[in-house]
Amino acid sequence: MHREAYRRNIRIGRQNYGQVFCTQCGERLGRIILRDYKYLFLVYLCKCGAEVVYRTEEGNPDTTENYYIDIINGVAVCRRCKKELFYIDRNKVVNYAFHIICSCGKQYNNRLPERSRQLRIKEG
Ligand SMILES: [Zn+2]
Ligand SMILES: [Zn+2]
Repeated sequence: MHREAYRRNIRIGRQNYGQVFCTQCGERLGRIILRDYKYLFLVYLCKCGAEVVYRTEEGNPDTTENYYIDIINGVAVCRRCKKELFYIDRNKVVNYAFHIICSCGKQYNNRLPERSRQLRIKEG
């Protein structure tokens, strides 16, 4: 199990692993699909206005570079090992950011546009 470093406004379902809920409005915003990731930082900006954040402690992510990933129908799939990483319900979120290191070691990130918001959570 990963040690949790930070969480805010988030509930992660135990049954049906990885379902991500906003605790402010109760909506399901997405799902963490990959179980054996090496690092995970997720931010969903819920339509209710809440920042839904989760970050693990370990992983040593490289925050100096951008690591692009395609998100197709809301699902991010590792380009190297083809595992599904996570799902984002784009109908439920205003915006999102993430940094994930796959079990195969490849990492991906997406930052929120600087000007569009006032995110104060710093990664790492
Ligand atoms: Zn919400
Ligand atoms: Zn992978």
